[in-house]
Amino acid sequence: MTLENMTKPNLLLTPGPTQVPPEILRVMAEPIFHHRTPQYRALFKSISEDFKAVFRTDERVYVFTGSGTLAMEAAVANFCSAGDQVLVLEAGKFGERWHAIAESYGLNVISLKAGYGEVVTPPEVDDALKKHPTVSVVYATLCETSTGALFDIEAIGRVVLKMGAILVVDAISGLAADRLEMDAWGVDVVVSGSQKGLMLPPGLSFLAVSEKARTLNRKAKCPRFYLDLANYERALRNWDAPFTPAISLMCGLREVLNRILETGIEGVWDQAARLAEKTRTEVRKLGLDLFARRPSNAVTAVKVPQGLDGGRLVSVIRDEKGVTLAGGQGEMKGKIFRIAHFGAITARDIDRAISVLAETIRELKP
Ligand SMILES: *Cc1c(COP(=O)(O)O)cnc(C)c1O
Repeated sequence: MTLENMTKPNLLLTPGPTQVPPEILRVMAEPIFHHRTPQYRALFKSISEDFKAVFRTDERVYVFTGSGTLAMEAAVANFCSAGDQVLVLEAGKFGERWHAIAESYGLNVISLKAGYGEVVTPPEVDDALKKHPTVSVVYATLCETSTGALFDIEAIGRVVLKMGAILVVDAISGLAADRLEMDAWGVDVVVSGSQKGLMLPPGLSFLAVSEKARTLNRKAKCPRFYLDLANYERALRNWDAPFTPAISLMCGLREVLNRILETGIEGVWDQAARLAEKTRTEVRKLGLDLFARRPSNAVTAVKVPQGLDGGRLVSVIRDEKGVTLAGGQGEMKGKIFRIAHFGAITARDIDRAISVLAETIRELKP
């Protein structure tokens, strides 16, 4: 394969990375400038201010250079000390990732599990917290991207608030797709990344942090350096970054925020809701079954029809029809495929995906 072949543009409908609109790509191709300048500070200040409308918070949003998992790790290293008891809600690969990160920092993990395609319910969280009242942090996921299931973060927020722990939510795929009201729902920390609903290339991750979580941060003793919020906090006072930021991606982010604020975050959520509903309807019309019982508006997971090889289905659609869908991850490999509908994805894109899907299923049916 030539490099040109390898990077031939496909219609990208995976739940990250997602399509980057051409006007945003253009902004990121501009000449680089230095970050210890009034120019960068003005950029960062305006991004920080406008992020509040996207995260629905008056709190601070810290920016890291690294993929979403880096910010997940920051949400462990900055709020915990070895031996702390934490509660992890797991119903798929990304809930499992919280567990793995927490274990690697020597935390005492209590895990509350639901099957793939299901969610952990608010009453289950309530019971677990009553049984383990010393839990200091609850780690949850808004959209469990591996299954397309949406957790009821609003109700979980009410339960956690009562018990005094902080609630950390992985909204890497859910932000700017599924409704999330950080302040109103009592969410203390929201984690996100650039390559999903924010329609940028991979490389930035974000952490919105409440006052309560910042207080906990000052007592937390897990080792950290690049991820230490204290560094970011100090820099933020001058709209500065502690280390060289990904300047081009930040320029792209400025453009993305312009685009989102033009529609309004409510409008962005509505758009994702409409596309998700359309996707679910069209998929059902093909006689296929949806996987998640409480589906997210970020991504739809669909069961691979009986007798068909799920891996083959996705690769034929990608390599022969020019549309990249996502297969299943972990234990769902070969059993489901996933179609994203956030960011710059349009109704026409979904129509194209549905038509190649129908065609390919016909071709591959034994
Ligand atoms: C994509 C995703 C991640 C991982 O993000 P990376 O950018 O690959 O590190 C974590 N959690 C959720 C819910 C995701 O969708």
